[in-house]
Amino acid sequence: QMQFDVEQIRKDFPILQRKVNGKDLVYFDNAATSQTPQQVIDCIVDYYQNYNANIHRGVHSLSQEATDAYEQAREKIRAHFNADKAHEIIFTSGTTHAINLVASGYSSILKAGDEIIVSALEHHSNIVPWQMLCEKTGATLKVIPMEFDGKLNMDKYQDLLNTNTKLVFVNHVSNALGTINPIEFIIEKAHEVNAKVLIDGAQAAPHIQADVQALDVDFYTVSAHKICGPTGVGILYGKESLLTFLPPYQGGGEMIDQVSFEKTTYAGLPHKFEAGTPNISGGIAFGAALDYMHHIGFEQIAQYENELLVYATNELNTLDNIIIYGTKPSEKTAVLSFNFEGIHAYDVGTILDKLGIAVRTGHHCAQPIMEYYKIPGTIRASFAFYNTKQEIDSFINALKKAQQMLQ
Ligand code: PMP
Repeated sequence: QMQFDVEQIRKDFPILQRKVNGKDLVYFDNAATSQTPQQVIDCIVDYYQNYNANIHRGVHSLSQEATDAYEQAREKIRAHFNADKAHEIIFTSGTTHAINLVASGYSSILKAGDEIIVSALEHHSNIVPWQMLCEKTGATLKVIPMEFDGKLNMDKYQDLLNTNTKLVFVNHVSNALGTINPIEFIIEKAHEVNAKVLIDGAQAAPHIQADVQALDVDFYTVSAHKICGPTGVGILYGKESLLTFLPPYQGGGEMIDQVSFEKTTYAGLPHKFEAGTPNISGGIAFGAALDYMHHIGFEQIAQYENELLVYATNELNTLDNIIIYGTKPSEKTAVLSFNFEGIHAYDVGTILDKLGIAVRTGHHCAQPIMEYYKIPGTIRASFAFYNTKQEIDSFINALKKAQQMLQ
């Protein structure tokens, strides 16, 4: 692990050098997608320049090199999340795909009268697939309510659990508010009624190294693009016993054992869920992104990001008419979701962009949270380990300007 030196780290990210609308880029939209270090970009280029070939098929050298690199990446991901076996890591196109894979699997298993629990803090990708599953199976969807401080109500959660509960789906960290949810407790209580738990780790992965065995979680999902990797690749972790039991998601090449027109038998794990040619360079680069993050160190990353969050929260609180949503910095990742009274988030976002500052505005694919607060959306600034206090100062100054212009 290296000494944490943000100026040194910033040199790894070529995009941070660029200007936007004539100003230095300040990238505070890390919860939507993180930036990519040169080491990961080089890994993708190296694949296309030197060993681009389809995997698991050819006997020729390039195909074997590509297969080895892809399987090494799977092993890195296994080790990172401490899964028991590499074949419990299924490559997907991202979290959305991973969730849909599980939802599709359960569509032939659930029946009317079964209950599914989600939380009020979910991203639409962890709501809609379960609604579709309920429509198909006749199961009912129950929702763990949230409180004003952006946390889930665990008493109400326990009231929802019963012997009809089959599945529980909660994100590890909320993308709209940054709340770190008590997933250990959620998993433990669900298992007491024999329900299976899927944790959406899309927002947690860049900040918290989850240990899937210690958590005893049944399914865990991650998108590489939020953790310094490329877009279009991610993983589903699933316990071997559950992945063996679930039917395949898509049919095609790679996922079969024997095919005839009378009957097809499926390949074993992980191939059963990996039909077709995957994002090969993306999978390999996901492994490179984890190497990069480990080189810096997850604990150092979390500590530094929390410093940024505390600093930014204090600065933001000095502004007039500010409303910050969510809990205190010690209970969330580096996300600030806020509004100015009487000003539309979108207008603020547009002015910030003119000043080179990238934030997200809107409902953040979590409309139920906005409905709870009775607002159309928020301004969301989300920090990564390559951001600086100077950038936060620029951001605060820009917000003051925006406020003057819009009031
Ligand atoms: N869940 C959460 C909590 C997210 O933040 C996101 C991405 N915004 C997703 C799911 C969806 O991830 P992807 O678009 O990479 O599939």
